[in-house]
Amino acid sequence: MKVAILGAGPAGMSCANACLSYGLEPVVIEASDHVGGTQRSNFHPNLWLLGHPEETGEAMTQRLAAHFLALPVKLYRATQVLAVEPDGDGFMLRLATPRGEVSERVRAIVLATGMRPRATPELERLAAQSPRVIIGPLSTAIRDAIHDARVLILGGGDNALDHALFLAERGNSVRVCTRARFSARRPFQAACAARPEIELKDHCPPSRLVIEDGRIVAEWGRVRVRYDWLLVMYGYRPNTEVLQRFAASIRPALTESGHVKVDAWQRTSVPGLYAAGDLTHSPQPSVATAIAQGLAAAKAIERDLAD
Ligand SMILES: Cc1cc2nc3c(=O)[nH]c(=O)nc-3n(C[C@H](O)[C@H](O)[C@H](O)COP(=O)(O)OP(=O)(O)OC[C@H]3O[C@@H](n4cnc5c(N)ncnc54)[C@H](O)[C@@H]3O)c2cc1C
Repeated sequence: MKVAILGAGPAGMSCANACLSYGLEPVVIEASDHVGGTQRSNFHPNLWLLGHPEETGEAMTQRLAAHFLALPVKLYRATQVLAVEPDGDGFMLRLATPRGEVSERVRAIVLATGMRPRATPELERLAAQSPRVIIGPLSTAIRDAIHDARVLILGGGDNALDHALFLAERGNSVRVCTRARFSARRPFQAACAARPEIELKDHCPPSRLVIEDGRIVAEWGRVRVRYDWLLVMYGYRPNTEVLQRFAASIRPALTESGHVKVDAWQRTSVPGLYAAGDLTHSPQPSVATAIAQGLAAAKAIERDLAD
């Protein structure tokens, strides 16, 4: 029985591995040209995964990906889902692969497309214009390219302040601006306040941002300040865009926060459609959670649908 898995992050890779052990035939569809998901560029140690205390997200991803890529799993990389239609007791997927369009008929689908960094359309446009505008925290450019520079960080949560501290230690001067109050953990706020290289400004969104001569100019009314880098740390949102390609009759219910609603077995509101990982609402999204949910989805499919 074929199972399409959308996304090759920890949830999708784990689901594919578990499908094999339940006698199911996983077909993994990954939008990017690599597998591994969000942690692929995380240069910080993963503090939440028991057993590998010093391992970075990057190294952990390589380890998980090496295992996944050695499995006898059909993998489409750099592939977009064009359409998903109901088809008898299953689904028909139309895919745009680098080699052209293909169709896959499957009995079940597991959504495992994770989350994506949040930004406004204006910030997305700026990021498209300049590599010096970085949306979201997990970028190797932050580790490798930003030294002795003026950096503006937009956002007031843990990621914003964690990155301010990281960059201050590398000779950068950092201004962190948030629209309202800082919501980051108090120890982060205290550590930032103690560093002269970091300026924390609440209720202070720039009125305008433009790129001039390859640098970012932020305006606060008539005050204009030039920055070498702009980091946008507005948190994350569930990556549900692919559902727009699903026929209306098979679009799953979402929670108020826009996550895919699932039961304890990772079943969505649509029979035959499952979801795992950060796309679903979880009290503590993590690699371990995603791996466990991918496993549970495979078990549910075997239990619900196998003859
Ligand atoms: C800043 C930050 C730090 C974190 N630190 C830790 C940590 O230290 N320890 C920890 O355990 N967790 C950490 N996490 C959480 C962890 O990264 C996630 O919980 C985990 O990656 C979720 O796995 P996932 O498979 O659900 O999604 P992801 O890892 O996001 O993978 C989703 C995959 O789906 C693909 N995809 C997206 N859209 C489509 C589409 N339309 N079609 C096909 N494929 C698609 C993506 O390219 C990606 O490969 C952190 C998260 C962030 C943001």
